Amino acid sequence: MVPFKHVTIVGLGLIGGSLGMALRRKHLARTVVGVSRTARTLRLATRRGAIDVGMTDPVRAARGADLVILATPVDVIVPLALRLARVMRDGAVLSDVGSTKGEIVRTLQRRLPAHVAFVGAHPLAGSERRGIDAARPELFQNSLCLLTPTTQTRPAAVRAVTRLWAPLVCRVLLMSPERHDRLVAAMSHLPHAVAIALTSSAPPEGLAVAPRSFLEMTRIAGSDPDLWDDIFLSNRTAVLNAMTAFEREWRALRAALVRADRPALRRRLAAAQARRKSLE
Ligand code: NAP
Repeated sequence: MVPFKHVTIVGLGLIGGSLGMALRRKHLARTVVGVSRTARTLRLATRRGAIDVGMTDPVRAARGADLVILATPVDVIVPLALRLARVMRDGAVLSDVGSTKGEIVRTLQRRLPAHVAFVGAHPLAGSERRGIDAARPELFQNSLCLLTPTTQTRPAAVRAVTRLWAPLVCRVLLMSPERHDRLVAAMSHLPHAVAIALTSSAPPEGLAVAPRSFLEMTRIAGSDPDLWDDIFLSNRTAVLNAMTAFEREWRALRAALVRADRPALRRRLAAAQARRKSLE
């Protein structure tokens, strides 16, 4: 049986476009309706197999959907959710793919009408590229999807969003929005900030001889500022805490170097090596 009749995806960029492609390829919805503000994106999304029907009006697209996924930049998610919830049918589920969760979940829990259930979601997959041109159906393969229900979230809505993501990723994990934001601050947003600082502090003449290690570590600094200023600002406290922990470690490493303390330096290198190996 097809799990969903009508799924609407608002925002057909890297994540929304890839989700549409993956859903259609796995026959998880009878109809995937996609929303973009431009006719070009709708044409491309149709040609690339991301949607069955394209619309420019999100309100029209949300009417009658059993599931609406917001795949826009983080700062647009709350206003869009409030606008669409008004026309969504009774019992329909609203979800998103935003990279931060606390602010979104807190606000929507307070302000959404009772007939619509919201479940925050964040697939841990992506790249520094944007737009439908970068979308691909395998984007979520072997990755995790984090759902952030609270005690107020309806269990049936969590089950529905799990039914959507479970066939597309290797694991769906549930955690609180606060825990989500703390973990992604340390594991995604801080590395992003480090990549930015590393890229910006490199001497201009060094760029011509950048080795592969530099390119690998700084790849994400090539991401779109429009998307990332939002992410940093909506997860500001958790990112600042992660920066503080990083600065502590950085200062200890620096101090060992200032003292030319080989044993201390080796201890730090060995501890990091063991931790990194445990990831493989
Ligand atoms: P993207 O490729 O730039 O796509 C964003 C889409 O949102 C575009 O298709 C755009 O649609 C639409 N959009 C932008 N501003 C809008 C507005 N004011 N109103 C309505 N629609 C608007 O970005 P993305 O990487 O897919 O990111 C989308 C979401 O996924 C973000 O919340 C991000 O935090 C999250 N996320 C990203 C990654 C990643 O690695 N990139 C990973 C996980 C989660 P049109 O211009 O076509 O209308």
